[in-house]
Amino acid sequence: MPHHRDRPTKTCCHCGRPFQWRRKWKDVWEEVRYCSKRCRREHRSGGSSSGQEAGGSTASGGISIASP
Ligand SMILES: [Zn+2]
Repeated sequence: MPHHRDRPTKTCCHCGRPFQWRRKWKDVWEEVRYCSKRCRREHRSGGSSSGQEAGGSTASGGISIASP
């Protein structure tokens, strides 16, 4: 019988390096995207976060129809 099973591997979304399954990820392996906390943090903060373009609220209401 096989002694070791090949552990699954993933590719880090930040550094692009493959990393192996770890016991601590046994419950969240499908959600793991980064090889380490550092990559996770850097990917979140270091990326070009130039979003925040929503919010164009021009001429929002203010017009009340005058009923006779
Ligand atoms: Zn990484």
